[in-house]
Amino acid sequence: MPRDYYEVLGVEKTATPDEIKSAYRKLARQYHPDVSKEPKEVAEEKFKEISEAYEVLMDSEKRKMYDQYGHAGVNGQFGQGGFSWGDFTHQDDINDIFGDIFGSIFGGGFGRQQQRTGPRSGDSLRYDIEISLEDAFKGKEVEITVPHTVNCTECNGTGAKGGVTETCKQCGGRGQIQSIKRTPFGQMSSISECPNCNGTGQSAREKCPSCRGQGRISKKSKISVKVPAGIDDDQRIRVPGAGDSGYLGGRPGDLFVVVHLKENAMFQRDGSNLWTGVTTTYPKLVLGGEVQINTINGEAVMLKIPAGTQVNSVLRMSGLGMPKINSTMRGDMFVRVRIDVPKKVSEMEKELLKKLDDTAGTSEKKTGRKKKIFG
Ligand SMILES: [Zn+2]
Ligand SMILES: [Zn+2]
Repeated sequence: MPRDYYEVLGVEKTATPDEIKSAYRKLARQYHPDVSKEPKEVAEEKFKEISEAYEVLMDSEKRKMYDQYGHAGVNGQFGQGGFSWGDFTHQDDINDIFGDIFGSIFGGGFGRQQQRTGPRSGDSLRYDIEISLEDAFKGKEVEITVPHTVNCTECNGTGAKGGVTETCKQCGGRGQIQSIKRTPFGQMSSISECPNCNGTGQSAREKCPSCRGQGRISKKSKISVKVPAGIDDDQRIRVPGAGDSGYLGGRPGDLFVVVHLKENAMFQRDGSNLWTGVTTTYPKLVLGGEVQINTINGEAVMLKIPAGTQVNSVLRMSGLGMPKINSTMRGDMFVRVRIDVPKKVSEMEKELLKKLDDTAGTSEKKTGRKKKIFG
């Protein structure tokens, strides 16, 4: 039974991330297998334990699961001996700490930790969805069915029948095999990963029958994805841990949901701005007035048309565009003004239009004359 993570780090259940980080740093310095005064096996075990505890408690989502369900809540993230170096979400913290340790002891020059091929992260997956512009405006919860691999529940991802593993016979639990070669320069010893346990030090007593020792099975999972209001075409949403499950207890990959927007008959989008058109009448453009127009959220608003507006001019309506992600700000709506030329008119309209045409331009001529007089 794994120890309580809070106990492992020696912090209170209410510890802040800073307190957890500082506790971890202290312990990491003490137990890092390369610098610890403890025997290698003891230090490795201990270091695994504190790193695992740190990884879970620093991730607010995982911490919540752990607080609620204990180790079962975060199970599958870590199989037996399933901790691996490359799997940190807080890789920066780790580099930081290792930088400290190695910097002070060896005077810098710390290279990358040797890559293990044992437990390793699962693949990240991509899933494409198409939503309407209206949904992109409001935001939407979308349920998708994703084919991916998940940890085998029979063996808890270990690949071992009943989850029963034993210390690897080939390497004695070290995960590495040392071989000595004779060369012209003398004996050379080389260390390689144990092929029997993939470097984990643990091997299955018997292969799990339901996953044939793979530790993972294919499954279609229903996953609910929150599409934030304001999402744009080709933007992606990351669902952590919803990709393929890790190998031998490694972390699962992420799922990236790529959003595509459907064409919209009314609006064209340009970043957070929307473009649309409105059709009005010639007198309204000349005299000014108001015209009703629909916005993206389905409301009707009145657009003010200033007197003397030209056909095809663009009027701006502030704050009626798309929302900006994680903000209360909205873009603008641009409205192109067109006029509708009627194909049929009544007798009365005909009369009025004729009169209008006969008088058209007279006001201009008058101003012209005035100018001559005073100019
Ligand atoms: Zn082995
Ligand atoms: Zn299994």
